[in-house]
Amino acid sequence: MPLPHQSRNHTMPENKENAGLPKGVRRQRNGCYSITPRMPLGVVSAEKLARIQHVVEVFQLEEIRVTAGQRLMIPNIPKERLQAVLETLGLMGDTCKQYVQACPGAVTCRMGMRDSQTMGLELESFLNQFDLPAKVKSGVAGCSMCCAESYVRDIGLVGRKNGWTILFGGNAGKRVRKGDELARNVSEDEVLDILAKVLDFYRENAKAGERTARFVERVGIESIRRVMSKAEIQEQDGENGHV
Ligand code: SF4
Repeated sequence: MPLPHQSRNHTMPENKENAGLPKGVRRQRNGCYSITPRMPLGVVSAEKLARIQHVVEVFQLEEIRVTAGQRLMIPNIPKERLQAVLETLGLMGDTCKQYVQACPGAVTCRMGMRDSQTMGLELESFLNQFDLPAKVKSGVAGCSMCCAESYVRDIGLVGRKNGWTILFGGNAGKRVRKGDELARNVSEDEVLDILAKVLDFYRENAKAGERTARFVERVGIESIRRVMSKAEIQEQDGENGHV
């Protein structure tokens, strides 16, 4: 019997190119490798930063790149040096299954209505419990300026004065899709309660490798809203004036 949140039928298809490589290591087209150390929510400590710089200098690597996902990548590492680079770099943090992006939020941004950094870390550890059919990218923004691109992420959270807005099914790829709003003015705990139901439904009904945007298009957002409890839907209808 599967454990809670673990897939019964579908698991994320393995990327053959990178099969067997440590987490964060990718094979490039030119035969070299890149390393992207773990950097939750785009935050890196001075100690980690110094280690990355040390490795680049010692192995005379060309550059460090900033990725679109708020991480630092060391590209163009020759195959024969990969193991030595990894060992010198050392353990760069625990692994994470799903990628969460978050803006600075209310702690440091004067526009912020909600603490997106704390919410982002909670969401990341929550998502690690799930074995999902495809990658799920999340964006957590501390206000409606939406600097974390929440509307084009599989899961989007937007902080507002009275709580979080939850979006689902967004994608910024070649078939761009704006996420559908599932709830508004919900607390941190309610965010996770609602997402647990929605992700269970996604896990049970999506095809292997099917991203949430395509899943929502196929099954319809209303079938996803139905998995939320009656009370949650009534509350949302009332607030959105849909009653
Ligand atoms: S989304 Fe809002 S809180 Fe976050 S960085 Fe942008 S302006 Fe600041």
